[in-house]
Parts: sequence; structure tokens; C-alpha cells
Amino acid sequence: MTRQPQRQFDLLPFPSQAQRLKAVAPRRALRVATEEDGEEQARQLLELKIAAHVQGGQLALSMTDNRYTMISVKRKKGLFRLRLHHMFLEAGPDVVLALGRYVSLNDRTASQTLGRFIDINQRKIRRARPTKPQLVSLSTVGEHFDLQVLYDDLNRRYFEGRIEARITWGQRAPGGARMKRRNSIKMGSYSVEDRLIRIHPSLDRAFVPQMVVEWILFHEMLHQKHDIPLIGGRRRFHTPAFLNEEATFEHFELASRWEQQNLDLLLHY
Ligand SMILES: [Zn+2]
Repeated sequence: MTRQPQRQFDLLPFPSQAQRLKAVAPRRALRVATEEDGEEQARQLLELKIAAHVQGGQLALSMTDNRYTMISVKRKKGLFRLRLHHMFLEAGPDVVLALGRYVSLNDRTASQTLGRFIDINQRKIRRARPTKPQLVSLSTVGEHFDLQVLYDDLNRRYFEGRIEARITWGQRAPGGARMKRRNSIKMGSYSVEDRLIRIHPSLDRAFVPQMVVEWILFHEMLHQKHDIPLIGGRRRFHTPAFLNEEATFEHFELASRWEQQNLDLLLHY
């Protein structure tokens, strides 16, 4: 959930090692976490891990969903531009090492290791389609809001009833757990594979206006409607078309202002 997509990394195509380390470090600023955060953090982490095995140049990693090219590397003036399929986000240490050696030395053993990894994962990707919905126990009735009621109403008002998603409150803090102050919070999420919307239980509280819960829900429902294009090897969850449509929510201004003004309360959960 976001109103301000994080763009600062786009401005630093080849960050120095120091900048990269800083970018990975937890951020102090209080904020709403976004879908882009997870992807970008995973990419940065993988880049750092591979860079540890790269000799003779800097590494610039981007992730792709290319169906035919799983790895490509361009070597030029001390810079290795490596493009990897998303499957490599799950690579273990041996594969990470092989990537480093392949990039800097074009090592034959490394290339065989990578070939095997790609074979295994391509088979997995093929087998995984069509995906079975993950078994999740859904709870839509909260203490203050019934998500199913809000969802059905939004679906009728904004989507002609065309959204087909399951919906649930996220996991609650165990009973008796003390509230803590978080640095960031993800208000909602949408899983494409499971067609599942999760809403953070921090929103199921008396001080939260219904229009705010609706807005978060509306945002996640839009994720089913809108494509998630890959731009520069990165997924763009909040395209201009997405943001334009999000702004059509009846209480968009009010709800986003309320969220900004009450972020501190929401982060206490
Ligand atoms: Zn989003």
C-alpha cells in the first residue's frame, strides 16, 4: 500500500558499495511499506551476495521474467551488467558462487552448475502452472470491520462485481502480546498466485475510519485488475494507470490524509 512509490533507487543505476549497503540497512523513517520494497530488497541482497564473488569489476544486477534467456551478462569497462531470471532470487550459496565466477571468469564449471539450476527450476515453473490455491484459513469478520461486506460493496460500486479474490485479515498478534512500535507497516497485500488479499489487523481498531479500510481494500483489489509490467528488469506494481484509478476512490483525499496523520497510531500494534 503506498501513495509515494519509492523511486530513489531508480536514480542510482550503479550505486557504490557503500550506497548499496546503506540502501539495504533498515530505514528509520516511519512509513507505509509497499510491494516494491520486497522485490527491490531481494534484488539488492542477491546483488551483494554475488558481488562478493565477482572479481575485476562492479556488478549491476537486474531481474527479468524473460522466458528464454535466464542469464545474460555484458562485460564492459569494469562493469558487469548481469540480468537474471527471477528464479535466481531463490538460489543457494553454491549457485551464487557460480554466478560470481561465471560473471567474472566465464568459468566452465560455474556455467554447468548454473545450467543444472536452470533446468531444475524451469521444470518446477512448468509444473507449478496452473497453481493450486494455497490453503489459508480466511477470517473476514474482525472486531470492528467485516472485510467481506466491505469487499462486496466495493466490488459492486467500482468493479461491476468482476474482482474475484479471497480476502482475510492478516495474522493477529497473540493474545496478551504487548504493543510495539514498528518502523514500517504493510497495510495490505495481494498475492497474484493465490488471488488472496490480506489486510493488516492494525486496521481493525475503533479509531480507524471505515473509509480508510475501504481504501486499502480498494487498492489491493486494483492489483488484480492492473498488469504488473517489468520495467528495467523490475516489477512496477503501481503504474500511472493504477495510481489514476486509485485516485477515483470516493474518499481518496480524506483517507490518504488520515493515514498520513495517523501513521504513528497505526504503527503501534
Ligand atoms: Zn500496491
